[in-house]
Amino acid sequence: MAAFSIGSARVTRIEEWAGAFLAPELLFAGFDAEAYAKTRSAIGPAYLDPETHAIQARIQSWVIEAGGRTILFDTGCGNHKQRPGIPVFDNLDTDFLARLAAAGFAPEAFDLVICSHLHVDHVGWNTMLVDGAWQPTFANARYLFPAPDVEYWDPLNRDRYPDMIGEAVNAGFFEDSVRPILARGLADIVTGSLDLGDGLRLDPNPGHTPGCQTLTVADGGESAMFVGDVLHHPLQILNPEWNSIFCEDAAQARAARRHVLARAADEQAVLVPAHFAGDHVVRITRTADGFAPQPAFS
Ligand SMILES: [Zn+2]
Repeated sequence: MAAFSIGSARVTRIEEWAGAFLAPELLFAGFDAEAYAKTRSAIGPAYLDPETHAIQARIQSWVIEAGGRTILFDTGCGNHKQRPGIPVFDNLDTDFLARLAAAGFAPEAFDLVICSHLHVDHVGWNTMLVDGAWQPTFANARYLFPAPDVEYWDPLNRDRYPDMIGEAVNAGFFEDSVRPILARGLADIVTGSLDLGDGLRLDPNPGHTPGCQTLTVADGGESAMFVGDVLHHPLQILNPEWNSIFCEDAAQARAARRHVLARAADEQAVLVPAHFAGDHVVRITRTADGFAPQPAFS
């Protein structure tokens, strides 16, 4: 699935990275071997290696063309970024911008850049290295950052958050991928829900991080929900109590997951998580005891 439409809006997937994440028992806080044994057979091999049990994952961005605007949702890991806390994303040198160009999108064409939340793998292409300095990649865009994450992840505020979970794994991103955008006055800091017009809306969905936000795109009786890391893998549709080990607030993260699954089921929305391999997007149906994934497009 490279692209799909929601009414008159067009959505195009741009991949940055493909590989295996941690094994389920390491990725999921609250992993339960019995529940895993019951649910794993419902997950296809494109999502979960049947031999090794390795979780297949992607780092991907979504281009949304709606109402004459071009919007980028999540910006991956970026190139040449020093990531001592997560070696798999350290000093990448991918052809992400060439892939974006091949799909028809030059960096200067973007009107908006939206980060679902501020984490190392969602902000990277906000900036790129030019003559030794971090410059905005999307120079003509306004960047929409959620206020709670701008506060939470700024190293200058570190003392206020003694229970922070993700400090080591996210080391570096704020200074090379967020601060340069703030310093140039290109960011709009989002507090609460925000109607962006043309059927686009941002809503807070905290838990994984304090600032997680969901983008809903609705047009012509159809809708899609871009939920970032509210869930990382289809196993969490069948086991919505499972958080990732990267979720900052466990109770909020579980509530946020149940909320988006219920909404996606009730609205028959296309659910667009950040890291799904396989078909990358799903629809959700209710079952006797919870939720189940379904192909988004038949
Ligand atoms: Zn992520």
